[in-house]
Amino acid sequence: MNQAQQVRHKYPTVILIGRTNAGKSTLFNRLTESSRAIVTPIENTTRDQNRGLVHWKGKTFELIDTGGLDLTALDPLDQDIQDQAQRALKLAKAVIFVVDGKSEALPQDMETALWLKRMKLPIVMCLNKSDSVKVRHGAIATYAHFPFEQSIPCSAKNGSGTAELLDAITDAVPAVESPEVAPKATMHVALIGQPNVGKSSLFNRLIGEDRVIVSPLPHTTRDPNDTMIEYNDRVINLIDTAGLRRQSRMGHGTDKTIELLSTRGTKESIREADVVVLVIEAQRKIVHQDKALISYLQKERKSFVLVANKWDLIPDKTPTTINDFIKYYQYHFEFADHVPVIFTSAVDNQRVMSILDAIIEIYDYQRHWMPQALLDEALQHLRSLAPRERRRVQSVQPKRPLVLSSLIQTGINPVRFELLAPRPKNVAPALMNRLEKMIRSRCPYSGVPMYINIVGREK
Ligand code: GDP
Repeated sequence: MNQAQQVRHKYPTVILIGRTNAGKSTLFNRLTESSRAIVTPIENTTRDQNRGLVHWKGKTFELIDTGGLDLTALDPLDQDIQDQAQRALKLAKAVIFVVDGKSEALPQDMETALWLKRMKLPIVMCLNKSDSVKVRHGAIATYAHFPFEQSIPCSAKNGSGTAELLDAITDAVPAVESPEVAPKATMHVALIGQPNVGKSSLFNRLIGEDRVIVSPLPHTTRDPNDTMIEYNDRVINLIDTAGLRRQSRMGHGTDKTIELLSTRGTKESIREADVVVLVIEAQRKIVHQDKALISYLQKERKSFVLVANKWDLIPDKTPTTINDFIKYYQYHFEFADHVPVIFTSAVDNQRVMSILDAIIEIYDYQRHWMPQALLDEALQHLRSLAPRERRRVQSVQPKRPLVLSSLIQTGINPVRFELLAPRPKNVAPALMNRLEKMIRSRCPYSGVPMYINIVGREK
């Protein structure tokens, strides 16, 4: 019986595929933190399949290192490796396609890529040997035309980028806390806001009769009072901020003392949440406490959606009323215009479910890799600004021309980008704001903060 057929455990398998010497063994060692593979710079030294378990953020998968998969190879030994790889692929749940980020993309790399694509498995391309900023940027450019949504520069040697790689893989493979049921990723959501703005009324609507309340058992609930709901095939955990559940059980609780029963304070729930829903009252002017909450969310770099509740109390609405409100909020809160604002009425059940749509959108954006072509476009747009405008955003030392070499995405959740500019001091803060706008105009990342890091030279 061949090794691939011996897989008899509950963990999903992930396969490392790539041509010889792309660094698969080193990556395998790095990911499994074992030293089972024999690592050597001489080609074709790893002959046997290597297997190891990888544990990452509460999930476990089995990683299999195949020999170099070179579809054009005629060597019978290589043919054997190919057969082995093909058999292993049949059992795999995902593939890490490893390429050598330091070398040119060879025709057989593309051939393998296209062959893999036909397998209909989640594939994450790993641009290995991206040991430095320069290689990282070069590798992204070299492999930009490969047909994969995710290509992650990483260095098996020094470990950079491997966390992102593991995030991508564990997102792609089914979770294994329980072998029979593969629970979907749970989004943790906190509803926060001043007392009486309608949090528990909204909460009641959100968990209303038409919602399935999911048993917390197969999922990871952090607090027995949290409420899991399923919506559009997604699982959302409403964190029990300030005892919302207890309030809601009692109907519309307006008794402030109930607030004191809060199982978790606002700050703690914010910390635990993937997405925060900040509720305010539409009919009231913004108060200092609302501003303080927004500042806190921004300081903590939290993704959030603003909900202006009690919309039914706004008289004489016209088609422009919503826009006027949005402008008012953007002006007073000084939050970026990508933050979604939803006008709800818990009493009339108006747009309440849009809150869930926004949460899901935000959650997905937190994990979204932007196609490199769009980033190249954003950078190109900056480079081609009219001279006057360019002067304003580009340089604190106008005599020295500013070079913007490349822009790549280096991470998700948090979403991070890296701008390579040989003279970073020439980059004025206005340029960074402009760059963020350019990125968001191509991919909005609604409600999600982003980091753009400027690097000047090779690390
Ligand atoms: P919480 O303290 O933020 O949880 O607020 P509650 O949900 O307890 O609501 C406070 C009061 O506002 C209650 O009397 C609710 O009936 C009322 N309320 C909540 N949502 C709305 C709404 O959309 N429109 C109106 N008119 N009243 C609301």
